[in-house]
Amino acid sequence: MAVLPIAKLGNPVLRKIASPVVQEVIATSAFQQLIDDMFETMGENDGIGLAAPQVSRSEQLVVMGCEEDSGFPNTVLINPKIVFYGPEQVEMWEGCLSVDGLRGKVTRPSAIRVEALDRYGQVLDFEATGLYGVCIQHEMDHLLGKMFLDRMTDLSTLTQLKEFDSYWKEESAAVI
Ligand code: ZN
Repeated sequence: MAVLPIAKLGNPVLRKIASPVVQEVIATSAFQQLIDDMFETMGENDGIGLAAPQVSRSEQLVVMGCEEDSGFPNTVLINPKIVFYGPEQVEMWEGCLSVDGLRGKVTRPSAIRVEALDRYGQVLDFEATGLYGVCIQHEMDHLLGKMFLDRMTDLSTLTQLKEFDSYWKEESAAVI
């Protein structure tokens, strides 16, 4: 496995629409290696989600995982689609491995239903709420060339990390 370089804000690859993954590619050793490398890259950088464009691969692939109490299992989504949004909204602090040192509050639907393929090409169809649901939406935004900054409706919550820890960490239920 290998830790891959992360594309940072301003890199045009983060603003492209990612291409769907062709079904026959999924089982190849190169693609399986990319998935493993993305998990290693995410872990090395203490992230809970990583989308392929963030490692300069403009393909519809995301990996996620969070071992904390309010976390969720390791997940691979290929060609994901959100087929249902719940009516309620949730506000969470978000950060991004492609945006160094900043967090901001983003409001998103609190429940979603997702269809995708897993790393073996099997069909997934599941609902996600809370941190898991928000993380999926954040990572899927990367496949559309969107950053969490684009989703912020109130830029006054934009916070540097040190200031986040000093002033805002206590009040935040969850941080992605
Ligand atoms: Zn991100």
